[in-house]
Order: sequence, then C-alpha cells, then structure tokens
Amino acid sequence: MAEQLKAIKGMNDILPPESARWEWLEGTVRALMRRYGYQNVRTPIVEPTALFVRGLGEVTDIVEKEMYSFEDSLNGDKLTLRPEGTAGVVRAINEHTFLYEGGKRLYYIGPMFRHERPQKGRYRQFHQVGAEAMGFHGPDVDAELILMIAALWRDLGIQIGTDVKLQLNSLGQPAERLAHRQALIDHLQAHHDVLDEEARRRLHSNPLRILDTKNPAMQAVVEAAPKLIDFLGEESLAHFNAVKQVLDAAGVPYEVNTRLVRGMDYYNLTVFEWVTDKLGAQGTVCGGGRYDGLIEQLGGKPAPAVGWGLGMERLLLLVQELGIEPPSTAPDAFAVVMAGTPLAQVLTTIDRLRAKGVNVVLNPAGKDGPASPKSQFKKADGSGAHFALVFGPDEMAAGQVSVKPLRDGAQQVSNSISDVESWADSLTAYRRS
Ligand code: ATP
Ligand code: MG
Repeated sequence: MAEQLKAIKGMNDILPPESARWEWLEGTVRALMRRYGYQNVRTPIVEPTALFVRGLGEVTDIVEKEMYSFEDSLNGDKLTLRPEGTAGVVRAINEHTFLYEGGKRLYYIGPMFRHERPQKGRYRQFHQVGAEAMGFHGPDVDAELILMIAALWRDLGIQIGTDVKLQLNSLGQPAERLAHRQALIDHLQAHHDVLDEEARRRLHSNPLRILDTKNPAMQAVVEAAPKLIDFLGEESLAHFNAVKQVLDAAGVPYEVNTRLVRGMDYYNLTVFEWVTDKLGAQGTVCGGGRYDGLIEQLGGKPAPAVGWGLGMERLLLLVQELGIEPPSTAPDAFAVVMAGTPLAQVLTTIDRLRAKGVNVVLNPAGKDGPASPKSQFKKADGSGAHFALVFGPDEMAAGQVSVKPLRDGAQQVSNSISDVESWADSLTAYRRS
C-alpha cells in the first residue's frame, strides 16, 4: 500500500454534512452584507512579508511568533500566508487608488493562517469574515458596523447579551495615547517584579498590549493601571459617545471595557469585541475597530477606516453549542432506478425536474446494473429526501414515474409524474405549505 499523506496539523478538512453549516453561514453573511451595502473583495492569500510587519506592527503576537513566512525558492521573495485580512485589503485599495471617488464599504470571507498551538477554537488555518469601511470619518460608520454584527446574531438565532456580549472601548488618538503611555510605563515599572518576561520585553515597545495579558499573576497590576480613557480629549470622547448613543437607541447592550486594546497596533478611537463564555478560553468571536492611520502607513493617500473580523470556526462552534440547527439541505427527491429502465430517459426526466428547481439525487448504478429496490429505498430514506421517484421500465414506456412519499405530509403531492413541469409546480406549492 502506498503511504497516505495527512493534512498539516491545525489545518482542517471541512466535509459534508459539516460543510452545509459553512454554506449556511456564508449565505447568511452574504445576504447581510447586501442589506448593509458592503461589496465583496477578494485579495491573494499570499502577500509580501513586509506588508504585515509594517501593517500590524513588529511587537504584536502575530508578527512576533504566528506568521507563516517563507522564501520563494524560485526567486527569493519573502512571502507570508495572510494572518488577517485588513492589511491585504488596504494594500489593494492603495494599489488601485480605489478610494479615488470616495469611501468604500467592503467585505471578505476566506482562510487566514497563524502558527499557533492548535486547540478547540484555535487553528493554524482558520476562516474569517471581515468588513471594512474605508474613507469615512464618522462614528455613524463605526456604529453601523457594530449593528451589522448584531443583525448577524439575530439572523443566526444567537441571543445578544447572553450568548454573546459586546465590549467597547476607545483608544483615542496617537497624541492621547502618548500621554497615557508614559503614565502606564511608570506604573508598570513600579511593579516590575510582577511582570512576566513578555511584559518586560514590551514595557517600552508596546506597553498598551501588556493590558491585554491573560497572565493571572499580572491581573491586579493591570487592573490598577492608569486608564487610557482618562487621557482622551473632547473630540475623541465625542466620537465615543456618538457610537454609544446609536447602540443605546438601537437597544444593543454593551459594556465599556477600558482595558480592551486589541492585538494589532493599527487601531485608534473605537475598538470592540464580541465575546462569549460558551467556548472556554477562545471566547472572542469577533473583534474590530477604527484604524485611521493604516492606509497612510502602508503608502496610500491618508484616509480613515474602520472594520471588524469574525472567526467562522468559533462562531460555528458557538452555534453548535447553542443547539442552533441550520435549515435542512436534504434533497426534495431521490431517484430510484429499476433494472431495465432506459438511462437516457431517466436522466433527461430528472434534469427537466432540476431545471424547474427540484433537487434530485440520482442513485448511480453499480457495475452489474441497479442495486436491489430494497437497498435503493434504504438509501433514499437515508438521504432525507421527501420523495422517492421510482423509475421502472413499464412506467417509463408509458411516460410515467411513480412517486413514493418518504416523509410525513409528503402525501399531498401527486403520487405519479406524468407531466414533469406541473408536478414540479405542485411540489413548489407543497414546499411553501
Ligand atoms: P485571540 O485573542 O483569541 O488570539 P485575536 O485577537 O488574535 O484572538 P483577531 O486577530 O482579532 O483575533 O481575529 C479576529 C477573530 O478571528 C478572533 O476574534 C477569532 O474569532 C478568530 N481567530 C483568531 N485567531 C484564530 C485561530 N488561530 N483560530 C481560529 N479562529 C481565530
Ligand atoms: Mg491571537
């Protein structure tokens, strides 16, 4: 036997029936994006390494230790599998001067890659939905982006405030952060003995990120640290309040978490996370915020931007945890074919049904012709179909197909097909009932 190759650790195959959940989620997301006027963008999965180093910041978890970076052995280019979606979208809009005519609202769905320790809700290839509004300054867009996720929770049957909770903060502007930074460094320095190795390393390069620590030993120090929100000026506070007012008016509950900083360097003003306590340590389902400096930082004409990214594996785990079932994808009908029935007639009849929107699964014959009726009916039942369509030689000769209902209620539809198109119409009526 030839040796079997295996998928890379932390990278998952998504097979049926699980893939149906993915298609349901993707379909729900695409319909949501249309309702909010966000258009699809597709960028490469591989980008120059420099894009992420410059875009995310050198002292971040992702750039320090999570990137799949490699040298293209054919030309020596330094490349990275994208660990997140925003940097690539910014590169693309800069490259195509895409904001030339004004702001754009974009979304993407696709795989991301991070070299982390695989565990429940944390993988090396995972998938994100992301939404980015570029070229808009106002808190209206920040609020709209958050309301959009609230709408997604509703569409999926997830309860806001219990299943998922919204945490909100403002990181202010760079000048405000600078003032806070010194106060923060002084505070942390005074408790140097409690800081772990990572915190000591980040003390002068990225002290704000220390507030994000999950180390229990550091919680007290971090809790008592000077709060960035106390350093915000009038304009930043007005922006923050405007976002909160929209959420209040829309009845979307939130908690202001003054320690919420997010992983990437590029954020300013509004930041938020949707968290759940149903997935253990991997509790953040969606995170985002404003990143007004990033477009310019990556060489584009200065323009504000705000967006979010949502982890699809975590969301699907949550959906499963909550017992939410997507709509059935079982076929309408399963075609059972008796020995001696002319295949050409069977297949063209089925295809006429399909052209009328009927979902029909054909049971392919084996090497020695069709399987026994008993085994075919067992398969028909297992498929979840509402009907078995029975193709026999005598019926076919008479231009007929018999129909056997397999589920409760399916008896309402005619038990014989003599006119394919009108049978399909009666099925449509049954589906609606
Ligand atoms: P965490 O703190 O859990 O590592 P993060 O801050 O690194 O999350 P982001 O970079 O904000 O995550 O990415 C947005 C979302 O993508 C996360 O909220 C999460 O749902 C999902 N995500 C991030 N990393 C992974 C991963 N390795 N596997 C699966 N989902 C992930
Ligand atoms: Mg992470």
